[in-house]
Amino acid sequence: MPARKLFVPSEGNSLETTQPVALISRQRKRESLKEKSARASAISARLAQAYPDLEVPLEYETTFQLLVAVVLSAQCTDSAVNKVTPELFHRFPTPIQLANTSLEEIESIIRTLGLFRAKARSLKACARQLIEQFNGEVPGTMEELTTLAGVGRKTANVLLGHAFDSPGIIVDTHCKRLSRRLGLTRSANPVKIELDLNKILPPDQWTGFSHRLIIHGRRICHARKPNCNACVVNQFCPSRNLTS
Ligand code: SF4
Repeated sequence: MPARKLFVPSEGNSLETTQPVALISRQRKRESLKEKSARASAISARLAQAYPDLEVPLEYETTFQLLVAVVLSAQCTDSAVNKVTPELFHRFPTPIQLANTSLEEIESIIRTLGLFRAKARSLKACARQLIEQFNGEVPGTMEELTTLAGVGRKTANVLLGHAFDSPGIIVDTHCKRLSRRLGLTRSANPVKIELDLNKILPPDQWTGFSHRLIIHGRRICHARKPNCNACVVNQFCPSRNLTS
């Protein structure tokens, strides 16, 4: 089976400005849920035109490997993850092999990644849970996935969207920043942002929309200096040119 690739959101660090939120709040008072939903759909369509193919830098072949790669990608780059996963997947292709190895062995393979000790602990514990609670298979529901070590809603939504065809909004630092700047949510809480976006977009757009927001955040709507002049959704954005 050829290696698959997956675009993975990052946690990262970004500066959130308070000014856009104030502007957004003023605008929101004039915008009904129906209007916001229509605007979100227009933004989604523009982003789909701009980014028709979702970039997929993380490499994996199985759902278990996808889970491992996404856990490893927290607060580090996808390319860094891709450098360690070939050896990791070769030596520990299934949960039982990963669960039965030593922490030191896992650490020695992933030590170039940030937080490698915590990630090694999570991977080993997660593999053990998969064996003991899920017959060695990665479960396919949000409730089950979020019981696994190292797996939060963001990681679970990546798994659901890409391994189980179950749509979900993936709220990473870029999705969070852009959702607020675009006036699609007021909240800074990732779960609330997810629910706010769920309300204004149809389920079949959830995964793609959040991925495209992440791409757009990386390329155009940077945390410190958004390039509003080059932004394909600036006509729908209450924060446009705010930093110029
Ligand atoms: S118009 Fe500017 S602030 Fe709004 S989404 Fe585009 S780049 Fe970001």
